[in-house]
Amino acid sequence: MEKLHSLDNLFLMEVKDLYNAEKQITKALPKAAKKASSPELKSAIEEHLQQTEGHVNRLEEVFRILGESAKGRPCAAMKGILEEASEVMSQKAEPAVLDAAIIGAAQKVEHYEIASYGTVVEWAKQMGREDIVRLLGQTLGEEEKTDQKLTELAKNKINAMAMG
Ligand code: FE
Ligand code: FE
Repeated sequence: MEKLHSLDNLFLMEVKDLYNAEKQITKALPKAAKKASSPELKSAIEEHLQQTEGHVNRLEEVFRILGESAKGRPCAAMKGILEEASEVMSQKAEPAVLDAAIIGAAQKVEHYEIASYGTVVEWAKQMGREDIVRLLGQTLGEEEKTDQKLTELAKNKINAMAMG
C-alpha cells in the first residue's frame, strides 16, 4: 500500500475510488431501470445512466490532467450499497412499493457520490487545480440534481402509490 505523503496522494486515491464506484453504477443502473414500473422513474434512471457515463469520462480527463493512468481502486462502499439495492430489488413486491425501494436505494448511491465529489472538489480547490474543480464540480451538480429529482418523484407520486 502506498504512503499518503500529501493531499495530492489522497486526492488521487479518492479519484480512483470514485472511478471504480462510477463503473459499478453504470452496470447497476440498467438493472434498476428494468425493474422500475413508473415511466418517470424509468426515464430518470436512464437519464442518469447517460450522465454517469459522462462522470466516468470526466474522471478519465482528471487522470489525464494529472498524468496518471485511469485506474480504479475497488470501492467497497459502493459494492455494499449496490448489494443491498439488488437484494431489495429481487424481492417479490407490488410495483409501486418496488419503485419506492428503488428510489431509496438510488438516493443512497447519490448521497455517497455527493459526499465523495464534495470532498474531492474541496481538495482540488486547496490544490489550486481550478480545471479539476470545474470538471468534478459539474458532476457534483448533476448528482445533487438527480438526488433532488428522486426526492420530488417520491414525495409527489411514488410514496402515495406505494401506500396503495
Ligand atoms: Fe455519478
Ligand atoms: Fe449518480
